[in-house]
Amino acid sequence: MLAAERPLDTVHDFPAIPAGWAYLDTAATAQKPRPVIDAIARAYGETYATVHRGVYQRSADMTLAYEAARRRVAEFVGAGSPNEIVFVRGATEAINLVATCWAAQQLKSGDRVLLSMLEHHSNIVPWQMAAERVGAAIDVVPLTSDGRIDLDAMERMITPAHKMVALAHVSNVLGSVLDGRRASEIAHSVGARILLDGCQAVPRMPVDVAALGCDFYVFSAHKLYGPTGIGALWARPELLDAMPPWQGGGAMIDRVTFQRTTYAPPPGRFEAGTPHIVGALGMAAAIDYVEGIGLDRIHAHEAALVKDAREALSQFNSVRLLGPEDSAGIVSFTVEGVHPHDVGTILDEGRVAIRAGHHCAQPLMDALGLDATARASFGVYNGPEDIEALARGLERVTRIFG
Ligand code: PMP
Repeated sequence: MLAAERPLDTVHDFPAIPAGWAYLDTAATAQKPRPVIDAIARAYGETYATVHRGVYQRSADMTLAYEAARRRVAEFVGAGSPNEIVFVRGATEAINLVATCWAAQQLKSGDRVLLSMLEHHSNIVPWQMAAERVGAAIDVVPLTSDGRIDLDAMERMITPAHKMVALAHVSNVLGSVLDGRRASEIAHSVGARILLDGCQAVPRMPVDVAALGCDFYVFSAHKLYGPTGIGALWARPELLDAMPPWQGGGAMIDRVTFQRTTYAPPPGRFEAGTPHIVGALGMAAAIDYVEGIGLDRIHAHEAALVKDAREALSQFNSVRLLGPEDSAGIVSFTVEGVHPHDVGTILDEGRVAIRAGHHCAQPLMDALGLDATARASFGVYNGPEDIEALARGLERVTRIFG
């Protein structure tokens, strides 16, 4: 009997998922439910205007809606105030913002940054660029044998030279969940700051930045059933206050003269230019949607799907499962003698969409001794029938490749 006996019955909310299509690539991007699509259509089709500048009623209303979206995001992650939320293009931009603005004042020659072996390129490259600018160095926390960030090793490695620790809350390849609280305590024990990359966590579990005890938290709306082109950076207010701006332009200023410009307080200081107004409204609608279901329920639903998927995949002798058993909604695997791209192509012929590749985590692939994996990742719309389709597809893969 499949563990996900009573799946969430939400697939009907997703008009872009036709019957019989197993969409197992939510870790790349989530499909959009009708309430999010409607919120976006309403904003462009009925209530659209710019924010923060208009003297007319429509613009004032849109400003209220935009700032209400910021409040919604703040509540969603347990921020103390909406002013702690900076709207960005996505997690990538959020990490680049911190690696530019925070690092501009806080990272010096000889300092060190601590990352882990399983980080997404977007939580590696910005730190390399920041480190190169000032002559800092990067260290890498290894993984446990089941694919978690090894916090015991981190505790042994960290030194007062480490000024920043940046870790994935949930791995986009292995689904492993970090004990963010403990990681924060270890970072703070030497006075380092800690950034958690919450891209894969916020769609899959309740997140509370206060309980995590971190300093920065980043995520993208499009993995949370919201639109692309928008995401959020949460930071402790005293850190945001001390950070210089990065992009100059409209909306981020207090007063401009040709002699001197003074800047707006956060979050405006970090939001130069006309923002992604409708994106913010779509993100708030996505938060309403997942909270309407309940993040605890979503987590349990995906845990059941992971259990079923691992059980179904382990029936194949040629399949090697990667990552811990209690991974959050993500199962990576390889099929002996078959390139993951071929696995993906054959599965697609059976209307099963998975991801195959390095998942923007080439250092992790190197550590695993692989150049790619196949990855099935789940969302609220998946059910046991999708796991069955995956298993049928894999039968075909093993038949074709003997
Ligand atoms: N971190 C993780 C763990 C991710 O899964 C992703 C997206 N694959 C990112 C960062 C980057 O997110 P985005 O491309 O939306 O900026």
